[in-house]
Amino acid sequence: MNHYERSALNFFAASPLDRMTLKRRDAAWLAEQLTAATTRFVPVWQTKNLFDAQDMSRALLLAPGADHLWLAAAEPILLGVHEGITYFGVDVAEGADHLASLQTLGKFEDLRLVGTRLDAKTGGLLALARAMTYWHQRHRFCGDCGSPTQSADGGFVRRCTNPACGKQHFPRTDPAIIVQVSAGDKCLLARQAVWPPGRYSVLAGFVEPGESVEDAVIREVLEETNIRVTNIHYYASQPWPFPASLMLGYTAEATNVDLHYTDDELEHARWISRRELKEALQAETIKLPPPLSISHRLIESWFDTGECGRLRDWL
Ligand SMILES: [Zn+2]
Repeated sequence: MNHYERSALNFFAASPLDRMTLKRRDAAWLAEQLTAATTRFVPVWQTKNLFDAQDMSRALLLAPGADHLWLAAAEPILLGVHEGITYFGVDVAEGADHLASLQTLGKFEDLRLVGTRLDAKTGGLLALARAMTYWHQRHRFCGDCGSPTQSADGGFVRRCTNPACGKQHFPRTDPAIIVQVSAGDKCLLARQAVWPPGRYSVLAGFVEPGESVEDAVIREVLEETNIRVTNIHYYASQPWPFPASLMLGYTAEATNVDLHYTDDELEHARWISRRELKEALQAETIKLPPPLSISHRLIESWFDTGECGRLRDWL
């Protein structure tokens, strides 16, 4: 399996949407889509998506029409088109009249908690709506001059309303590395104090300005555990809209094994063999991150190449 195929298997990355990039500036086409009977809106409130309260695996989408006249005026974001349906993301404003009616229709919930119950296409759609509404919320004012900004080009630009400035602001995503480090037959796992008891994962951290992704891998592992790594290979990527990351997965090999926590991020780190991990999972003394995350995929990919069978059989 190559890295493109691995990325496509990652949850939140499997959206089949045609993003219709060339249509974003076509105001007439956008206006037509906003009222088309086949159009569906993906509501987001306080970064949460809307689900059927009786069946949280069912995301609730809204159709244009008399019940939802507010939709077209709420700076809708063109997410894309799939199988003849045009999807828009829309932020449900705090305190708005329609918020109460939506809350009688279903329940707003954090996508990260519900994700595993969704099909991959819906997961990708909701993740994109969440990521885009989050960006809009935080760019209502121009970073250059402080004036209000306005959504444009189907929501993929915010333009400064100050004619003397006119700066355009584009959606951002924050690159972060996540790396499975090996030493012989052992894998480096670590935990943060704020995680649920027993949860261990691979190391991760944000790429800093002026740094290559590979250098970020080397720096993060060294800062967090005092381990130096070499033989760094790209694995796959995953959009991670919690709130705005793009996870860049790598594997690497350690050149030393003496663990020291050199920053405050980790509560504990350890080297673990496949057999030890299998036994710890059976004894429920270790919990891994959920299968929808690339961290889980990296651990699974390492585990499954060994002599202890498939990771999924021990979960
Ligand atoms: Zn400005």
